[in-house]
Amino acid sequence: MDKKAYAEKKRSEVKEMMEELASRLTSSEAVAGYMNKKMYILDQNEIPCGKWSVMNRFLVTLSGTCDARGYDQWRQVGRQVKKGSKAIYILVPCFSKKEGNDGTIQDILKYFRTVPVFRYEDTEGEPLPYAEKLDELNKTLPSLPLVSVAEKIGVAVSFGFSTGDYYGYFSLNDNKIVLCTDSEQTFFHELAHAVDYKLGTADFKDKAGRDLSEIVAEFTACFLASQYGKAANLLYTRQYLAMHGKIGDVFKALDRASTVAAYIMAEAAEVDA
Ligand SMILES: [Zn+2]
Repeated sequence: MDKKAYAEKKRSEVKEMMEELASRLTSSEAVAGYMNKKMYILDQNEIPCGKWSVMNRFLVTLSGTCDARGYDQWRQVGRQVKKGSKAIYILVPCFSKKEGNDGTIQDILKYFRTVPVFRYEDTEGEPLPYAEKLDELNKTLPSLPLVSVAEKIGVAVSFGFSTGDYYGYFSLNDNKIVLCTDSEQTFFHELAHAVDYKLGTADFKDKAGRDLSEIVAEFTACFLASQYGKAANLLYTRQYLAMHGKIGDVFKALDRASTVAAYIMAEAAEVDA
């Protein structure tokens, strides 16, 4: 049976199981939440952007890195910015001192200035202390279930450090998944985003589209975890769904999520064959 036919056949079977899962997720009974998500975060002293504003950290993440620094900051740790690298511009507040009526000295925000910073990936030189930690984590990638599916569809997977309130992400621009946790459910979530995008069903245009895309990804992840012998954290999934709409929206995601899950399982079956 070819892959397409297999995925099609699998789809109805998957949909049935996912309907069951959706009912459990939306039931009022307590659901299991036994997975412990570990988040890989760098010590703020190891990475300057750990102390930056949420907006600046967001700009860093958008540019596809977890570490960006100014030209001189890189030189201080023995690294050079590669020729032709494009800078990311962050906003740095500038204050002036003013004496208040009560005689205390206060910092008054005067203006923001833009400061160019460069991605770690655009530098070379001395290894950073945390690079070793990432190397160790990246060595464990081959044992991650379904990682071969990501490879097959041309999506690179690597570990990174979280610079914000996220466990991982899928970057459309770079076609890569970055994981900041050892939780398989997070990897399955990002893989679901990648496949949803590849199938042309992902929608990031507006908030409603993005929310539904998140629900599709998380619901698929929860299902895949149950299928590949990893404890699915239903409680986490429930909280995630609630963050992006109503728990009941999971039924709106059912068709799309079962297509995504069946596609992943068909690819996985082909790798194993
Ligand atoms: Zn997501």
